[in-house]
Amino acid sequence: MKQRNHHHTGQNEPQTITKAVTHIRLEATNAGKLAALDDLAQVYLPLCQQYVTLFCTDESPDKFRATCFVTPLSERWHRVAIQQAAGIAKSWRTNRAQAYQDYLDDLLDYHEQEAEGTLKEGAQEPTWKEWDVPTLRQTCIQANANVVILEPSQDSTFDYWLQISTLHFRKLLLIPVKLAAYHKEQITDPKTGKARKLNTSVQLNKREDGAWWLTLSYDETLTVHAAPDAPVIGIDVGIANFVTTSDGKHYGTFHSKLRERQKRDREKRRRKARLRKCLEKKGAKKLPSTSSTSGQRLIRHVKQEINRAVNQCFTEHEGAQLAYEHLSVATMKFKARAMNAYLRASNLAHIPRQIEWNAAKRGVQATKVKSAYSSQECSVCHYPDRANRPDQQTFCCVVCGFQTHADLNAATNIARRVGDLDLQACKDRQAVKSLLLQRHAAWRKQHGWP
Ligand SMILES: [Zn+2]
Repeated sequence: MKQRNHHHTGQNEPQTITKAVTHIRLEATNAGKLAALDDLAQVYLPLCQQYVTLFCTDESPDKFRATCFVTPLSERWHRVAIQQAAGIAKSWRTNRAQAYQDYLDDLLDYHEQEAEGTLKEGAQEPTWKEWDVPTLRQTCIQANANVVILEPSQDSTFDYWLQISTLHFRKLLLIPVKLAAYHKEQITDPKTGKARKLNTSVQLNKREDGAWWLTLSYDETLTVHAAPDAPVIGIDVGIANFVTTSDGKHYGTFHSKLRERQKRDREKRRRKARLRKCLEKKGAKKLPSTSSTSGQRLIRHVKQEINRAVNQCFTEHEGAQLAYEHLSVATMKFKARAMNAYLRASNLAHIPRQIEWNAAKRGVQATKVKSAYSSQECSVCHYPDRANRPDQQTFCCVVCGFQTHADLNAATNIARRVGDLDLQACKDRQAVKSLLLQRHAAWRKQHGWP
């Protein structure tokens, strides 16, 4: 597992990505040691939760906030809890704001269609359900060097010692850390053959079986290869083609084989459900499960296909910079209509994640652009209209008559949105639409269109 946590430093500058070294099990050399860690977690977690709630409700997240709750923890541990809580609250707030914006866009779309009289039968007005404040269920401690120190071991039996401050003043917990061969391989820099410099912050997780696990990390610097004037290739994400590029190439598809498998799987689950009903009527105690292992396999398979498609797309566009769109819930819903419920949104969301990850790994500039009207705008005359899409695959402009594959038209628009400052400044979908209409008017004038 690798963590993506790259800091955008602007075009063409080196970017840093943080890679995690996971699955390091803390050996219980003596039970008392890990029990002291359990005790610590028991007071740490509720404290962290208190700040999470505070930062998600009454205050905005502030990792330097003055302490305000009572705890038996030391001042240093207290600060660590505040910092972790601020991080959790910040991403929760970002995700919530994004979802809320998506909802507003959905709502606007709904009312637009209502006014136009193009609402689909049975369509319902979107509603907003307020999010719950996150609850910390799993024991996870993100500690820094003020409370946990990782020291290389002089003894060959272990690789490191973990020095952990405890609830007791000046009483340190010393836990030996042994790395597996694959951990050592991961932290060896292939260029120098030496061990990489590990970050001072570490993560401690307690699993349900009571075992403690350690996650270490290191930073890797990657240089973005593409020059600022490198050609921009737009990427459209979809079902018929996982990825379509603005130079007219398609990568991966949900159709054909995958669709066949999905159909078979659905049939199987239906048969099972019928069997359950039948057995239930007869009063059988033990019923066959409705979860489907072939369904799980299918999800994994789709993800592999996506990875393969994105990988190939990057390989074939070396030297270019890429543009892809921010997928809103509404766009995903629209695009995923063809997919079975359990297969859709999560899989589609895997595509942009994979693009982001490939870009970071390869040091390729990839810019996320606004998705509003990217599939409805005509890439020739800019006219935005739902009617430009007579069906899922076809784009046919109702004004200028330009006709092409729908995904290709979208990919062209996406490529052009890189560096489009006027479009970036648009606050919502409505603003994007009026900008596009303005551009369409300018196009008409320029081409003497009646
Ligand atoms: Zn047009």
